[in-house]
Amino acid sequence: MSKPKIVIVGAGLAGLAAAKVLEASGLSPLILEQSDKVGGRVRTDEFQGFLLDRGFQVLLDSYPEIGEYEAALKLKPFETGARYFWENDFRKLNPFNPFRWNRTEFLGLLKSLKLFYPSENKPASHLFEENAFMKAFWIPFFRGVFLDPELSTRSKRIKALIPFFLKGRVTLPEKGMGELAALMAKDLKSSEIRLNTPVQKVHKKGVVLQSGEKLSCDFLLLGTELPSAFRLLGVDREEKGEATEVFYFSAPKDKVEADKFLWLDSRPESPVNNFSVLSQVQPSYAPEGQHLISATSVGHEVPQAEAVEVYLTRALKIPSGTLQFLKSINVPYALPKQDKAPPFQKGEYEGIFLAGELVDPPSINDAIWGGKKAAQAVIQGVNSP
Ligand SMILES: Cc1cc2nc3c(=O)[nH]c(=O)nc-3n(C[C@H](O)[C@H](O)[C@H](O)COP(=O)(O)OP(=O)(O)OC[C@H]3O[C@@H](n4cnc5c(N)ncnc54)[C@H](O)[C@@H]3O)c2cc1C
Repeated sequence: MSKPKIVIVGAGLAGLAAAKVLEASGLSPLILEQSDKVGGRVRTDEFQGFLLDRGFQVLLDSYPEIGEYEAALKLKPFETGARYFWENDFRKLNPFNPFRWNRTEFLGLLKSLKLFYPSENKPASHLFEENAFMKAFWIPFFRGVFLDPELSTRSKRIKALIPFFLKGRVTLPEKGMGELAALMAKDLKSSEIRLNTPVQKVHKKGVVLQSGEKLSCDFLLLGTELPSAFRLLGVDREEKGEATEVFYFSAPKDKVEADKFLWLDSRPESPVNNFSVLSQVQPSYAPEGQHLISATSVGHEVPQAEAVEVYLTRALKIPSGTLQFLKSINVPYALPKQDKAPPFQKGEYEGIFLAGELVDPPSINDAIWGGKKAAQAVIQGVNSP
């Protein structure tokens, strides 16, 4: 008997994870990817010797799904805690070291315990309303996580994520975030990945490529981001999602007193939500003698690079002209809005198998886990009479 033909649309983490599970069952899927590289939203580009991730992203080493790749990724951690803007300067805070807390932090962190038992229906913003410390620390922290300026994200998402932050370290891989996808793709033996192959339409027995070519299959697995999935499935639904822009600057290493903290700023007038000296955390992100600094704005409104440079110069207390602007990267669709559950409750739509944020929350761990789960559903289909 010939093997069933399986097509996966999207070579992001979900599509790659699905392919690996299918291979383990003796199947050889064809992966169709519109861009010139695997990884989807987890992608790193080299620029003048610097490693630039497409948007500020981090890897939590407590994510169970990255376990098998952890050693190869050569992760380096951020400092535990963060620096946050309070009154007129940035303060260091390690939420796990009570001996260094001041009274405000002590009371604020005590109140933060309610992050563990939020009510489901309210937007996360309500959790921080009544306490100045919580506003200054948690609002920019979670804005950065969900890329949601209003924090309309359901508070249950915070509850789901907190254990990963408690159990693990926040890290960067040696070759950039895209290395995770590169390793996953390298692991594939009998799958075929066709890059630069945008799909225009899908149905349960095949796809139509943008080139006009038609490919038939026995099983189709869709692992794209939401707006693309709605278009491909012919679902008449708009999905604007959350946007972000990351600004990259370099600076001579000896001119910046760098640390490994994430810096958070909740002030409405601040052009960025968070920044950090990435090369202090993971030295391979910058060439010898240089630092790479990334600053993130959250939302569809984007500041000018000049305003970000002035801001960083002040925050890092360095002479003006020290920073050199490298590049900014806009991600117009970074994440779906998380004010409601994912749109597809079942892992299947009209006979098409669904993975990633179509059915699961958007995260690196969920994308891999969801890809595997969708592949198992396909295997069940293959094995059923
Ligand atoms: C800036 C930013 C920061 C983030 N930070 C974190 C973080 O710190 N921690 C965390 O856990 N998660 C983070 N995430 C979320 C995480 O990166 C995503 O949830 C995850 O990578 C999604 O993987 P995926 O495979 O489901 O989708 P994607 O990565 O979007 O992959 C979908 C793939 O499908 C392809 N595709 C789409 N349409 C078509 C088509 N018509 N034809 C062919 N191919 C198509 C795309 O090109 C893409 O390669 C962040 C995301 C962004 C953007």
